[in-house]
Amino acid sequence: TDAPATDAPGARPEAAQSARALFTERFDAVPLGTWSAPGRVNLIGEHTDYNDGFVLPFAIQHRTHVALGTRADGVIRVASTFADDAVEVPLAELNALFPDGRETVAEWARYPLGVAWALQRAAGRDPVTLVGVDLAFASDVPVGAGLSSSAAIEGATASALAAIWGIDLDRTALARVGRTAENEAVGAPTGIMDQMASMLGRADAAIFLDCRSLEAEVIDLGFADAGLELVVIDTGVSHSHATGGYGERRAACERGAEAMGASALRDVSVADLERAQELLDDVTFRRVRHVVTENQRVLDTVAALAAEGPASVGPLLVASHASMRDDFEISVPELDTAVEAALAAGAIGARMTGGGFGGAAIALVARDGVGAVTDAVTAAFTDAGFAAPTIFTVAPSAGAARD
Ligand code: ADP
Ligand code: MG
Repeated sequence: TDAPATDAPGARPEAAQSARALFTERFDAVPLGTWSAPGRVNLIGEHTDYNDGFVLPFAIQHRTHVALGTRADGVIRVASTFADDAVEVPLAELNALFPDGRETVAEWARYPLGVAWALQRAAGRDPVTLVGVDLAFASDVPVGAGLSSSAAIEGATASALAAIWGIDLDRTALARVGRTAENEAVGAPTGIMDQMASMLGRADAAIFLDCRSLEAEVIDLGFADAGLELVVIDTGVSHSHATGGYGERRAACERGAEAMGASALRDVSVADLERAQELLDDVTFRRVRHVVTENQRVLDTVAALAAEGPASVGPLLVASHASMRDDFEISVPELDTAVEAALAAGAIGARMTGGGFGGAAIALVARDGVGAVTDAVTAAFTDAGFAAPTIFTVAPSAGAARD
């Protein structure tokens, strides 16, 4: 049977209303307003962020919305459709709670409370001077599918609190607040790509981010005008060794950079790879080659988009996947199957996206070929004995905003 790609799963125009409804249900009051921030897909540039390199993500139409109201007692209270109970903390205690006391906070609540903590710290504000708030979250962003629901909740929270507390930080600073929350209050050692994409996203555009300087440039994608769709194939696989694998890859990159006398692999060029091969053991060399060539592919993608338009980036996506599969060794059979089946069914390009060991693949597909790619991938998963993937299209969309 057909499994046509949908515009979601679950990107709902009424999601802001869900946050307002949750607010009223949990807090028995009417919110002052709602803010929201999107998830993201990384078009190309994988494992380049922590090597001071380049990435090219875009914000998607799936968003996390937060309804906000103020309260007179200096308490911050957070509620989510994910959790039965609200979590509350006096603002005056945030600096005692994070980072050392984070284990005492329900894990999901560390994201919004961690943002509140990081925001007042970044703004140099004494928390006792800030007005108390109630926050209620509702989201369309699938969790753990590699679409960064974490950056979405961080971006929504940072935007809402900055507005209500009169904190005048720019979008890059708010992205940093999100990363600080995720690194220190949640305890996840992530880069800043996701938060930058969620804060800076624009319709029909990607964010070309230099992870060393944090300079960001909005790059027109033109998918719609070229008649192209970006299809996400969520394999549903989340491998238990993702954390260990990530640490091993980071360590190999640091080893490789040091042996090359570079402060980061960003400073190693494709022309340097011959010397790298002489200096490094085989595994470290292949890890280095992935990062160095992937950085170059991001630059080449930006150049190709400008010169020839989006239909020209297919081979770069395919080369990115091969490099992750063969050199960085972070793919899994489900991701390889998704990419191969999509390409065989006519996709212009396809690659796994995200940290690896599971998660999602993306495919760039002509609009009238989306059905064929969806059917081919679904059939290939059935033939291989894999659980059915979730397949949907995403559109490059606007970043965090008041709704
Ligand atoms: P992802 O790839 O989706 O970003 P992460 O593990 O980084 O996966 O972040 C997912 C976590 O973020 C969830 O397990 C939850 O703790 C938190 N989270 C995301 N969205 C929400 C939400 N709307 N309400 C509550 N918690 C959320
Ligand atoms: Mg995340």
